[in-house]
Amino acid sequence: MVDKESRDMYKCLQRTPKKQKKPIVVQKEERKEKNSNYLEHPVYNDISLINGEINRMDCQVLQLKCKELHLDCRGKREALKRRLKEYWKVEKLIEAGLMERRTNRNADFLVVIDFEATCEERNPPGYPHEIIEFPAVLIASGGEDCPRIMDVFHAFVRPVINPHLSEFCKSLTGIDQETVDAADTFPMVHQRFVEWMEVKHGLGSRATYLIVTDGPFDMGRFMYLQMRHLGHDYPAYASHWANLRKVFANFYKEGFYKETKDFKLPGLQTMLTQLGMEFEGQPHSGVDDAKNIARIVVKLLYDRAVIRVNERIAAVAKGVDDSNRTGAKLLSVVPVMRKEAESWYKKQKCLVVVKETTTTTQEE
Ligand code: AMP
Ligand code: MG
Repeated sequence: MVDKESRDMYKCLQRTPKKQKKPIVVQKEERKEKNSNYLEHPVYNDISLINGEINRMDCQVLQLKCKELHLDCRGKREALKRRLKEYWKVEKLIEAGLMERRTNRNADFLVVIDFEATCEERNPPGYPHEIIEFPAVLIASGGEDCPRIMDVFHAFVRPVINPHLSEFCKSLTGIDQETVDAADTFPMVHQRFVEWMEVKHGLGSRATYLIVTDGPFDMGRFMYLQMRHLGHDYPAYASHWANLRKVFANFYKEGFYKETKDFKLPGLQTMLTQLGMEFEGQPHSGVDDAKNIARIVVKLLYDRAVIRVNERIAAVAKGVDDSNRTGAKLLSVVPVMRKEAESWYKKQKCLVVVKETTTTTQEE
């Protein structure tokens, strides 16, 4: 079976600009005919045969094949299978002239964020979490020696609603009272973060980027509540993000769903284990969590995954208090499907191009 991504990519490369709009019925018929032609390209048959061979390999053979190709040999069987399949798919598409070697289908940069927040052992309904640690890891997805971690932003934040951290919170996050007492409040830290992204790294003006989080909670609960406490509008840059758990489960899904026997999305530790990696540092330390999430992102990029937006913030109706939800489903988060994700990314690309053009014209 050839996956949809390859077909879309092939279609995209084949597409020629339309001169005149044709009637819808004619367009539909032509599209049908074209689709069957794309599938007839012999390269897809080759890819399908290779995939079949890979499916029959045991773990040892998969490791050997990865080694021969200088690919990472770590991880469970399904991760190795996906790594090899993706490698051969891309090589075959390049060989057939359907893809360029240097194509980067990801945003130029990925920004991993993992907040720590005030909490109690059992967060009571409506608990007003406030962000106390704000780490971000910048990953370059393309270019020389990429993907790799380029920079880290890190700051502690002083909470104002509950300035005293609970014993539980201190022992969970490893953050002590003196650290938050000496820190700036959220608006100042947030301003520094925005400058780090926009001024230092030119994100959104010189390069496209995408926020990545482990689960929906960083944006859907912590950022959302923080902005609500402050009475500020939710920031536009954080309105869309990639929930890594979904990206991971989709990319390595054959193994994930088989091995866990349920449809629960993988947490940070599960993702690391699947890839044969170990947690580095202290779990629930925001900066260590963010660095470990970033290591997974880099691995996914090496395995040629495309990391797309898959969640966004919802406009929660006034009067609906969603802050007391502790389950996995947040009213403030809406899933984003592939089509919407692609058009969101296209808009980001246009913004970068437009800003580049404007800057050049001004300089002239
Ligand atoms: P994490 O990124 O998993 O470290 O969690 C982020 C934040 O979620 C923490 O800083 C806490 O505010 C909250 N949190 C995580 N785990 C728990 C827990 N077991 N009980 C209460 N709150 C938690
Ligand atoms: Mg964390």
